[in-house]
Amino acid sequence: MESVLLTLPEEPRAAQPEFTTDPAARSNIAQPKPQRPEHAWREVSTQIKPGDNLALIFQRQGLSAKDVHLVSTSKPLGSQLKQIFPGHKLTFYLDEHGQLMQMAYTTGPLDRYEFKRQGDVFVGEQITTEPERILAYKHGTIDHSLFIASQRAGLSDAITMRLAQIFQWDIDFVLDIRPGDAFYVLFEELIHDGEFIGYGDILAAEFVNNGQPYRAIQYAAEGRQPDYYAPSGDSMRKAFLRAPVEFSRISSNFNLRRVHPLFKTVRPHRGIDYAAPTGTPILAAGDGRVTTASRTQPNGNYVVIQHGEQFVTKYLHLSKFARHVKSGQRIKQGQIIGYVGATGWATAPHLHYEFLVNGVHQNPRTVSLPNAAPIPKQQLPNFHAHTQRYSALLDNYKHQTSVAVAR
Ligand SMILES: [Zn+2]
Repeated sequence: MESVLLTLPEEPRAAQPEFTTDPAARSNIAQPKPQRPEHAWREVSTQIKPGDNLALIFQRQGLSAKDVHLVSTSKPLGSQLKQIFPGHKLTFYLDEHGQLMQMAYTTGPLDRYEFKRQGDVFVGEQITTEPERILAYKHGTIDHSLFIASQRAGLSDAITMRLAQIFQWDIDFVLDIRPGDAFYVLFEELIHDGEFIGYGDILAAEFVNNGQPYRAIQYAAEGRQPDYYAPSGDSMRKAFLRAPVEFSRISSNFNLRRVHPLFKTVRPHRGIDYAAPTGTPILAAGDGRVTTASRTQPNGNYVVIQHGEQFVTKYLHLSKFARHVKSGQRIKQGQIIGYVGATGWATAPHLHYEFLVNGVHQNPRTVSLPNAAPIPKQQLPNFHAHTQRYSALLDNYKHQTSVAVAR
């Protein structure tokens, strides 16, 4: 298990995010601060308490009701002050006569609203600060489960989840994990004012499952969201999720000669039933367009998605639809389309899921899934340059880890 700050090889600045590699630099990172008034202005900060409102706080600070009015009615951001939340911070800047010149409402480490006096009015501005990104590295070896190994390695649950998501098409993290499996992860830590405020993305990772290494590099291909690719340029994703819901068990398998549990007659079961608690989110298995979001007696609430020419997926017995889901709606893989329920002909909460290829029902557990789009050919040179850099980093740290173990 290793946790180290890394030194990145040189690369043209424009193409890559910048990393602070010197730990000493953590504490004095240059950040755009709220503009400090030049003259003898006084700065007073106060934390918002439960039950506070702007008028109360202004009164406590000895500020006028007129200023409350001016700030809170300033267009268009004054309305942000109608609801202020305990724990957030207000900062006042007063001139030498005690007149309010500027106010900042800070809602998070990176977010604040600034209101500046301009004559008889205040003008608001929303300011979002970019955090500093530091590259971090962790490595772990698995005895029993990924999550136990990750905790031991000091990897957060959020990063572990993302790690499992990246490799979910190659590795079943419940069934395939073997003692001795290992992971190597490069990821970002977000720093603001010298303090850790959260995790950024996984930039590169390797997972060794049963002796077989899988490597993934994050890359933003032109015209696409950042995604994970093998060093060859193939997507780590398939075009479809294997199961569109986190299920506790399969309550009924794909079976074309099944005796129906309610009707006691032979009725083919053309899908898989995934048992899960009512309200469990159901995800779109792939990118596509909703063709039906409706209700019938047998199906209950159900959704049908068309994926390109060939593929259709169906989701039955939903307790409710996700808000944006209606027919004609474009949808992305992994987007929530609704929630598990027992509407229609269902005896217990479950998702009935169907997968059709050219109009023919296939077993969703075993159908071979098409790959998601690889890196386009003309973008491969840039992609390879990016990949080599991160692959070299991973190799470097794997090597250092094994040397450390050997010592
Ligand atoms: Zn079913």
